[in-house]
Amino acid sequence: MRLSFVELPESVVPCRNLVGGEWLLPPGATLLDVRSPYTGTVIGRVPLTPADGVAQAVEAARPAAALWRSLSARERTQPLFRFRSLLERDLDRLSNLAASEAGKTVAEARAGVLKGLEVCEFALSLQNLDSGAHLEVSRGVTCELRREPLGIVAGITPFNFPAMVPMWLFPIAVTLGNAFILKPSEKVPLTACALGELMREAGYPPGVFSVVHGGRETVDALVEHPDVKALAFVGSSAVARQLYARGGERGKRVLALGGAKNHLIVAPDADPDLTAQAVVDSFTGCAGQRCMAGSVLLAVGDIEPLLQDIARRAARLEVGPGMGAIIDKGAVERLEAAIARAASEGARLTLDGRGKRPAGEQWAGGNWLGPSILDHVRPDMEAARRELFGPVLSIIRVPTLSAALAVENASTYGNAASIFTTSGAVAQAAVEGVRAGMVGVNVGVPVPREPFSFGGTGESRFGHGDITGVSSLDFWTQLKKVTRKWSARTDGSWMS
Ligand code: NAD
Repeated sequence: MRLSFVELPESVVPCRNLVGGEWLLPPGATLLDVRSPYTGTVIGRVPLTPADGVAQAVEAARPAAALWRSLSARERTQPLFRFRSLLERDLDRLSNLAASEAGKTVAEARAGVLKGLEVCEFALSLQNLDSGAHLEVSRGVTCELRREPLGIVAGITPFNFPAMVPMWLFPIAVTLGNAFILKPSEKVPLTACALGELMREAGYPPGVFSVVHGGRETVDALVEHPDVKALAFVGSSAVARQLYARGGERGKRVLALGGAKNHLIVAPDADPDLTAQAVVDSFTGCAGQRCMAGSVLLAVGDIEPLLQDIARRAARLEVGPGMGAIIDKGAVERLEAAIARAASEGARLTLDGRGKRPAGEQWAGGNWLGPSILDHVRPDMEAARRELFGPVLSIIRVPTLSAALAVENASTYGNAASIFTTSGAVAQAAVEGVRAGMVGVNVGVPVPREPFSFGGTGESRFGHGDITGVSSLDFWTQLKKVTRKWSARTDGSWMS
């Protein structure tokens, strides 16, 4: 069987940067192969843009930013209506593209595009929000808050959601009047190019939306460029922390979302069927490469039959395109080594996904790891503390809900946590007690819908506020405070 979404394109065309409305290959850029995690075949080539190429994009964005901010909110919203329709038109194409380059299942990639559509709908409503305030503070004196764009801003995004994460950012940033530069992950540049083409087709003025490909050097150039006023980053915690510090030192506004270690707390009174399926879907979905994946199960009391059911269900999953592939060979090696280390430290490996791969020659070059379960993990082990980012579940046994909450609270991350219970009181205690920024009740992947914003705490988010929803308005704009005083009288006889 050969799936169309991972077929090698007839010719491998280098991705280009979108600069001033034109697709350009940055001079002097090294080209990197883009390989499908499913097959290992080269499906594209991406330029690693040096500082000159970043400066070129910023230069082109400068007049666009000036023009764009001078338009009314209603005018700035019109192309987004068209962009949203184009997303619907190209839903299948975008989903296939994101799946091919990121190793996602097509269903998961499709859900990502649909989430982007939801963010667009939120951004479409911004023109009608009362975003400022106006008050007569004393007779004849008024104070006003005006929300104004920042200018040129940039978004740096990870490999695991090639469509969704960029669309957390640019529909809102652009609608609020900024010129936006997207620096997608060099592992998944193709979907970003497709989004750029749709932004062009939607009719945005050239330079309002740009795409600049590359890796670390390209990010460094964005951080260093004085005209880039804000950086939104989504990726691993180590890079998020670094970017937050470096951007801050240079006077930029930075919101940097990092990695995660999400806890699934299972109480003894949890619905066994719902819980087992939700846990398996949470840690294996997208081959565990979601920042919202549940990766630690806190088993409260004796829930042995439920744990065995989880292992049975996970073991039945077929490794392959139905579960998703691991992004690259290095990540598979890193995950296998982490599993081996946990086992050597005393964890019981009750399900070993190492070496599992789908049958069929066409998948031979792919990057695979089957669901793996480590039981009796101790909270001090790496498998309990660090993000592994693969289909690996660490089970920690705890006697009480308080003990479960203590483990969750001690995590340096703080993205998401879920409680599985049939008791309202237990659910409430968990909602109040967890430290994570996003909480689920009987939900394995508690992603809030818009306009509820997305964002964690701790090392899962450096900066203030959330990346989507109402709080994103504060990130992408600045408030100007205007105090007006008019003379109470006029000498003109025409008044009366
Ligand atoms: P990554 O940190 O390796 O890369 C993210 C982006 O940063 C990419 O565009 C990459 O080119 C760039 N980059 C990489 N190293 C850099 C460096 N040293 N300096 C400057 N830029 C650098 O992350 P990834 O592997 O692409 O994505 C997976 C990670 O993203 C996981 O940790 C996952 O949890 C996290 N993630 C978090 C969220 C969230 O909402 N918190 C969402 C999605 C993914």
